[in-house]
Amino acid sequence: MKIIKTISELRTCIQQERSFSKSIGFVPTMGFLHEGHQSLLQHARENNDVVVLSIFVNPLQFGVNEDLDRYPRDFERDEQIATKNGVDILFYPAVAEMYPKEMPMTITVTKGVDVLCGQSRPGHFDGVATVVMKLFQLVQPTNAYFGQKDAQQLAIIMNMVESFNIPVTVIPCPTIREVDGLAKSSRNVYLTERERIEAPFLYKTLQEARALIQAGETNRTKVVDMMKRRLAQGLGQIDYVEVLSYPDLEIDDTLKGQIIIALAYRYEHARLIDNDIIHIKEEE
Ligand code: AMP
Repeated sequence: MKIIKTISELRTCIQQERSFSKSIGFVPTMGFLHEGHQSLLQHARENNDVVVLSIFVNPLQFGVNEDLDRYPRDFERDEQIATKNGVDILFYPAVAEMYPKEMPMTITVTKGVDVLCGQSRPGHFDGVATVVMKLFQLVQPTNAYFGQKDAQQLAIIMNMVESFNIPVTVIPCPTIREVDGLAKSSRNVYLTERERIEAPFLYKTLQEARALIQAGETNRTKVVDMMKRRLAQGLGQIDYVEVLSYPDLEIDDTLKGQIIIALAYRYEHARLIDNDIIHIKEEE
């Protein structure tokens, strides 16, 4: 595995691989790798000649009062995990390499950002889209792998690829969970013991909402209210609970078609997100 820290070295390496017409599978991450990231790497490994992993905690996607400085990092451990998962190129740039000066131009996301994390983290998805656009230009991947855990991010990246005709296939990968149902996340290390014991109730609440919808409930407000009542009993605070069309992320009071049930929940030192995407069968 090659560890590359500079853009010029990455460009040389990618040019070489492309000259042999090799397919490139790309997994962009912020590091502190867990089984969720590893499942993306495995999908990439199975379907491409070359696997590129990027590890970059992107300052552009963090708000002023968010956890940029506290975001967990452990490069040595990540390096071992990357090697174990068959990564060929690990791109690990410093902030000054990616942003040598203030960006004179950035992406503004105009659709699907007035809800969910877009609403509670203003500017977040502009930062995500900008860094992913940069990384796509550098890595020039054939396939790029994103987790459904971050379903709004996935929808926005797909819109970006379509909007700018980027020649990459975006592959969605399912959410990987702990045995008790808690979605794997780098931020789970910040849960207190009590919070960690309670946290699987986020997924259980999603499952209850799914069951309610599958039993025939199509009233969005009733589903949202049920979830809010359930989550209000926890140790943390609700950031949002929402049921929207997916991937359009639009509010419809009557649930139909493909929908996302999504939540964000604030514990003392960690804000967790989770979601479930379901397809409501049309009446015959
Ligand atoms: P992050 O390092 O949190 O920016 O995540 C990098 C990629 O891994 C994103 O595409 C995430 O959606 C994905 N990811 C994070 N957690 C999970 C998970 N539990 N299951 C599947 N994919 C995940």
